[in-house]
Amino acid sequence: LLHVHVTAIRSEGSVDGYVALIRDVTEQERLNQAQRDFVANVSHELRTPLTSIKSYIEVLRERSDMDEGTRQQFLAVIDQETERMVRLTRDLLQLSGLSRTRPGGYRRGVVDVKAWLIAAIDRFQLQAEAQSVAIELDLLDAGTMPGDRDMLDRVLDNLLSNALKYTPAGGRIVLSARVKRNVLEVRVADTGVGIPPEDLPHVFERFYRVDKARSRRKGGSGLGLALVREITELHGGDIRLESRVDGGTTVILTFPLQEDWS
Ligand code: ADP
Repeated sequence: LLHVHVTAIRSEGSVDGYVALIRDVTEQERLNQAQRDFVANVSHELRTPLTSIKSYIEVLRERSDMDEGTRQQFLAVIDQETERMVRLTRDLLQLSGLSRTRPGGYRRGVVDVKAWLIAAIDRFQLQAEAQSVAIELDLLDAGTMPGDRDMLDRVLDNLLSNALKYTPAGGRIVLSARVKRNVLEVRVADTGVGIPPEDLPHVFERFYRVDKARSRRKGGSGLGLALVREITELHGGDIRLESRVDGGTTVILTFPLQEDWS
């Protein structure tokens, strides 16, 4: 898409020539569209829980004779939906904060890889046991990497939470790290439901969900992987995803071992 702006150059009443300004606004237009889509998505995502909270409150109000069991059930739904909005807004804030962040705007530290991974597993151990899913650690000469530990914690939280969300009971999650040449490779592999090949290229997009109903039921906002990719790239790293339907999913992150802040 091109914008053309033509101005005539005049001297003493006659036209001497023209200046044409041609600007390629394709990229601008694409960004505008992406922004409009984003706002529409956010509004939709907030509207859904709000509508359901509102209708449950209405029923609670109108039916004062409701039995205690049903009342508790309704309150639980309101609670869940509120939680979902809290998570969504938290993820959104984090994402928008990240895209504004410039190098130096966050903490550059030295991260002990083993401690980083073990702490992440600890945060999910109880939930995993409750779901009868095993989480294993596979560590090979991990050492340290340059990075922001808080942000890197968010990366593993999102990946482990996804792995747990989409892995049925009896499954296994392996978190591994090893140094390959000059990079640290971190993998989160699960034996879960997998992702259909046609969805794979899109899962890093904001709000993209393979199975909307399932993901929403499990508390998904569709922002997790977008956030993970953003943080990984801020660290100068890459993210890749391998998956097979019913064959499990492996997310592979590679981080430079020398500082390379993008
Ligand atoms: P959500 O909050 O919905 O989990 P994400 O951005 O984290 O959003 O992931 C996007 C979509 O990718 C999910 O809705 C889910 O369909 C799919 N997905 C992500 N991780 C996995 C996984 N480990 N196994 C199967 N599907 C996954």
